[in-house]
Amino acid sequence: MTLPEKSRSRVLVTGGAGFIGSHYVRTLLGPTGPDDVSVTVLDRLTYAGNRANLAPVADHPALTFVHGDIRDADLVDRLAADHDDLVHFAAESHVDRSILGAAEFVRTNVLGTQTLLDAALRHRMRAFVHISTDEVYGSIDTGSWTESEPLAPNSPYAASKASADLLALAYHRTHGLDVRVTRCSNNYGPYQFPEKVIPLFTTRLLEGGTVPLYGDGSNVRDWLHVDDHVRAVEAVRVRGRAGEVYNIGGGTELTNRELTTLLVGACGADWSQVVHVEDRKGHDRRYSVDWTKIREELDYRPGTDFAKGLAETVAWYRRHRDWWGPLLTRPAEASR
Ligand code: NAD
Repeated sequence: MTLPEKSRSRVLVTGGAGFIGSHYVRTLLGPTGPDDVSVTVLDRLTYAGNRANLAPVADHPALTFVHGDIRDADLVDRLAADHDDLVHFAAESHVDRSILGAAEFVRTNVLGTQTLLDAALRHRMRAFVHISTDEVYGSIDTGSWTESEPLAPNSPYAASKASADLLALAYHRTHGLDVRVTRCSNNYGPYQFPEKVIPLFTTRLLEGGTVPLYGDGSNVRDWLHVDDHVRAVEAVRVRGRAGEVYNIGGGTELTNRELTTLLVGACGADWSQVVHVEDRKGHDRRYSVDWTKIREELDYRPGTDFAKGLAETVAWYRRHRDWWGPLLTRPAEASR
């Protein structure tokens, strides 16, 4: 059923051509999505942004794509005026790149977020969902962080995300803007740019190449399927509370070595393809979020079995060399 424009929620999604943002958009506009939303994607199409990620919904009448920068105050102001909710995924998102150069991380993640917050405030948008990360908490050897844990980020990426996260909450406390912050663990699934560990290792192993395992491989991450993550984000957009932070966990903790073993097996590869390399500078040992709050308040639980989700993800990369092959040779200027 096509609803009249006025009765729809007009959702502005920044970074909607990236890995998680595009999954959110495909889900909102897909067969299981609500029928009362229209979606505008605002994306600068950096090396990590890809129009092909939106191909399954490209012709959807409720989708508009705007090629632009979240730091463009005039553009953002015009878009904020025409939308009800803002779901903010856009970011420079790769820790290793932030170690090589932090400037773009501060510009996009901090200044870009502030530009969006100002526009949302001017137009009194209904809800501003800020997608943060568990990395803002730092590193934890045992136990899990609740949402009240003070932020102690280590990498330049995590510090830029923590700055944006705190700014977003400040706009709620200072101005009463309806801001909701989510802090999730490591995502995996289809359409993830082949620089993060799961798609990087999968694509290289499938090609018969080698993969770099940092340090002794004992760093621990909690894995969250992108399907579960976007379901949680949508619950926060629709039913979350203003000024609240929600941790989103996946429920499967693995060392990088354990993950590599699973990927070697799933790709039909061999351990001789795994090369031990010097550890990442300042490499956080372990992340672990306590997601009791979102479970109790919004009835969220991760639903994807990790073994099944990983097998399906590897199978997707196996079938979609046409998607990731061209990304391996993207021009350098696209990778600022
Ligand atoms: P991604 O790198 O795949 O996508 C980022 C998107 O933002 C791209 O489409 C890019 O073109 C766009 N973008 C970058 N700079 C922009 C700018 N200045 N203006 C407009 N668009 C811009 O990232 P992702 O993995 O999908 O992550 C999405 C969000 O989730 C980020 O905020 C990230 O910090 C957060 N997050 C990701 C993970 C994860 O495991 N991937 C975990 C925790 C939090």
